[in-house]
Amino acid sequence: MNEPPPAELGLTIEELQRIIAETYGAKDAARGDVATFTWFIEEVGELATALREDDHEALAAEMADVLAWLVSLANIRGVELAAAVRRKYGHSCPGCQSVPCQCDPTLKP
Ligand SMILES: [Zn+2]
Repeated sequence: MNEPPPAELGLTIEELQRIIAETYGAKDAARGDVATFTWFIEEVGELATALREDDHEALAAEMADVLAWLVSLANIRGVELAAAVRRKYGHSCPGCQSVPCQCDPTLKP
């Protein structure tokens, strides 16, 4: 079993996507995008439950699960997630091109 990278080094989205591919790539490919999306949504539901409880560690674990399943979906569909996030959110709000966002809060609170 590989040790996780030291926490002080952080973890880039590229590294996470590679780790998930190495760890789950074969299973993810066999399962396919629709079934993986279903698991992703199940984890989103578990995150909703964790948000209503007072357990920070459980909340963090559910967020990790949601992110991991999203990365699996990206791997299956060949999406470079870091590049996609950088393109869309790397500079400013994609709606108003401002930092901080100046979008009308009545449209997207
Ligand atoms: Zn905005």
